Parts: sequence; C-alpha cells; structure tokens
Amino acid sequence: MDKYYLTINNKLQEVSSKRLDYAKKIDKNNDHILDDNEITDFLIKNDDLKLSDLKLRMTKDGLEIINKHNIVNDFKEYLQDIDIKAPTFIRDYNQIINKMKELEQKYPDKVKLEYLGKTFEGRDIVVMRISKNINDEEGKKKSILITGLHHAREWATGESALNIAEKLLESNDNALNNYLNDLDIYILPVVNPDGYEYSLKQDRWWRKNRTKFEKGIGVDLNRNYFTPKDPTLYRQPNDKPDSTWDDYGASDSVYSDTYRGPYGNSEPEIKAITKLVNSKHIDTVIDIHSYSNAILYPWGHTTEPTQWDAIYKEVGQEMAKAVNNKYYVEQSVSMYPTTGSSEDYHHVEGRFNYTLEIGNSFYPKSKEELEMLKNEVLAMTKVFMKNLINNKIPTQKFITTYQNTH
Ligand SMILES: [Zn+2]
Repeated sequence: MDKYYLTINNKLQEVSSKRLDYAKKIDKNNDHILDDNEITDFLIKNDDLKLSDLKLRMTKDGLEIINKHNIVNDFKEYLQDIDIKAPTFIRDYNQIINKMKELEQKYPDKVKLEYLGKTFEGRDIVVMRISKNINDEEGKKKSILITGLHHAREWATGESALNIAEKLLESNDNALNNYLNDLDIYILPVVNPDGYEYSLKQDRWWRKNRTKFEKGIGVDLNRNYFTPKDPTLYRQPNDKPDSTWDDYGASDSVYSDTYRGPYGNSEPEIKAITKLVNSKHIDTVIDIHSYSNAILYPWGHTTEPTQWDAIYKEVGQEMAKAVNNKYYVEQSVSMYPTTGSSEDYHHVEGRFNYTLEIGNSFYPKSKEELEMLKNEVLAMTKVFMKNLINNKIPTQKFITTYQNTH
C-alpha cells in the first residue's frame, strides 16, 4: 500500500492508514510528501473540512484561512491520527450528568433537572434550571439558556457551561448570588451526548451527533436549526438540495462534517432545545464552542446587520473587556457563512444571543488551561447577565416592532 508523509518539527512522519484517501487528494506534487502549501490549498478548497469550525473568513476574493498556523498543524495531527486519550480532568457524559444530579440533591430549593428527550443512542438530553426559588413559576423572570458541546470535540465547552452552574450555587461571589434573584438560568452542558462520548473514547476529531443514516453517520447539530418564520436560515434560496459544494454554510452530504441533516430540526438534540426555549419562553442564549477567542453575534448567514447590531457590539465589547480584550467581537458571518445555526435561529425568534468560541485549541492541554477557559466564560457570562438585568439587553417582553431585516 502507498505511504504518505508530512513534515512535523523537521521530521518526516507517516500519514495514518485511515487518512490515505485524504493524502491522495492533497498530494499535488505526486511525491508522496504533503507540504504546507498543498495542505493550505486543500483546506481552502475542500468542502468536507474536518476542521471547518471557524477557521475561515469571507473576503472579497472568497474564503481565506485565518489562524493558518494552527489549522495546518491541527490538520497534520488529524492526518497522523495521533491518538490522544481524553485527559482525566475532562469529565465524560456520565460524570457531568452525575454532577448535575448531585447539585440537584444538594440544592433542591434552587435546582431542578429536566429530561428533554433521548438521543439516537438512547442517552438523556438534560437541562438544569437554576433559580432563587425553584418552585416559583417559570417565565416570570428574565431568562438565559447556556449551551455547550453542540460539537463533540469541543471538550472544554461542556465543562465551562457546567462550571457556571457550580459557581452560581457554590461560590461566595455576591454578584453571582444576586443574579439568581433576578434570572431563571438554564444550563445544558452537553447538547450532543452521543457525539461527545464518541469523541472522548473513539475519535477525538468527531464533531457531529451519531444518528445513523443509510449512507453515513451524524448531523452537524449547529446546522440543523430551522424556523418556519424564516426557512432561508436553514437553506438559502439559491442552494439546491443534494448539490454538495454550493451548500452555503452547510452540506447536504452525510459524509460532510457540516451535514445539515435530512431536513430542518430533524435531530432529537435540536428538537429538545427548540421545544425548551419555546415552552419556557427563554429570552436569551449563550452558546459555547471552541475555538478562536471570539465573541460572535448574528447573523451567521448574511453580512446584513441585525436590528440589535449596536447593542451586540457594545455588550460584546464589555464582555471582551472582562477578559482583558483577549477575545475579539465580530459578526459571525465574517468568519465564514453558516446556515441552520443556533445563533440565527435564536435571533430570528427574538432571543438576543452570542456564540463564544473559547480558547485556541479543541483540546485543553492541561487542567490549568481548562480552568483558565472556565474562568473566561464565567467572566463574560457575568457581564451578559448584568446587562440582561439592567435592561441593556433586549428581551422578547420588550419587542414591539421586531422586523425581519432580510
Ligand atoms: Zn463548534
């Protein structure tokens, strides 16, 4: 069998046998050695990117790779299929659910778990409601939903969501304690339990859920959102189903890492979230992803500004300031276009929301790095909650003239 090589740290390393098909596609020089230019070229042109989350930026000339050093290195690791076992400081799905149950038992007056449905493989999709008095009627106070792990391999995002729950309940931080008086807080740390387990235990590059189709496995859950209020959020008018390249912001190929699913809202995980936000009248959302040190606001599918553009920028900048401006604030589409995403869905439904792209890697290398990310997310979320309480962030209750701007 053919062998292919790449240069890492000035040494030739063999491409994993699993990735030979990729290697063949990349090797323009036909010398069985993949150089950085070939890899970069491939990453720009390929529509089935394994690393497609947020590394591309739209320019006048088309797509351009940002953060090129990282993405080329990530892709080299992918080609080698380096077997990184999940570190013990990352809790798996059962450990996260057990922690949620433990908090419910310890704080029965403040915490209630709700089981929103089952995944393809039969795991529970669980959200945690936290409030000053859990028996108070829902929907009376302003509310926020915090989600993590839409994408299986973004390991720090579930931990960061769960950390907010732990800190709200267990820290002596007065500001946090006060937020409980004014807000109903919903935390769903693991949107994608099947994919997360698969990524931790089988293939750390796995991104989608694990729904089995005739020809392949998995839907990109952050491309599966749909609302009848604006079906073009899921699929642009000029995007023909079954064409695999001009799939603006998502793919119709089940083999693709950004497969949007057979139809909008097809996946149990997304059904669970859309039902939750509608039945509880949830006002706002923070959706945590990795990576890029970015605070992103809608739209994801068009460069048109939303009606809340100025507020998104202003609150976003204040959140960035809370982490010493390490994160930059940008409209989501300027990274690369997406359709069927959480941010566009929630925005068109009147929910002010951000997508946080935390850190500079899918895989935190140490407990210290994970703690840093958790602290960053907490600091940014506190700024968000403060602005939600002081009425700077608009909520559905205040929308009277909402217009679809596109
Ligand atoms: Zn993601």
